Amino acid sequence: MRTGIFGDIHANLPAFDAVLDAMKREGVEQMFCLGDVVGYGADAKACIDRVRELEIPIVAGNHDWAVAGRLDLEYFNPHARAAVEWTRDALTQDDLDWLRGLEPLDQVGELTLAHGTMHDPEDFEYLQTPYDAYLSFQVMKTRVGFVGHSHIPVTFLDGMPITYSIDPVLALEGRRAIGNPGSVGQPRDEDPRAAFMVYDSEADTVSIHRTEYDIDDAAKRIIDAGLPPILADRLRVGR
Ligand code: ZN
Repeated sequence: MRTGIFGDIHANLPAFDAVLDAMKREGVEQMFCLGDVVGYGADAKACIDRVRELEIPIVAGNHDWAVAGRLDLEYFNPHARAAVEWTRDALTQDDLDWLRGLEPLDQVGELTLAHGTMHDPEDFEYLQTPYDAYLSFQVMKTRVGFVGHSHIPVTFLDGMPITYSIDPVLALEGRRAIGNPGSVGQPRDEDPRAAFMVYDSEADTVSIHRTEYDIDDAAKRIIDAGLPPILADRLRVGR
């Protein structure tokens, strides 16, 4: 089974559509979403509609919860906060109820999904170091799981010591692993292309994929919506 894993769409519809096309080309048979459908970008409503149409497992991101009023805005920087408030006004009550109903951790068959970490999903901490990965491996009930939130593609491998890999194709060889696909709509690893991951359960590999999309279009939508221009500029540099 080839599973497409993606998240941190951040209301970037051109990037989201490019990733959906690319996953089709990769022969993905099922998809999981790691949350943060909204926030930062200008196509909140369209991205929610798109992801709901897919009827796939999805966990809540911090931006999803903030927009839905389930998370305090005090931890958000001013640009993120402006985007949360803009997004709230752009959505219907039904969209807000749907966002509010998402949970930040889920286990789907053989895989665990979280937005931030497995060990403290509701606090939306970042899983960025081997120690963070260690804490999540301690509580993860499946062999393989995925997190988002950092917008940086990487896979942590359990062991003594815990290691990590950014190889485009990584053979797990039976090892426990937590992968992060990076971000669809706001990459932060200085590669502006939209990112997703494929987990192939037969080959036991995780692969990192990047796809070009119309960044000018996404940036223009942000400017036209009256969102902070920095949210458009950062898409071009992938930061
Ligand atoms: Zn995010």
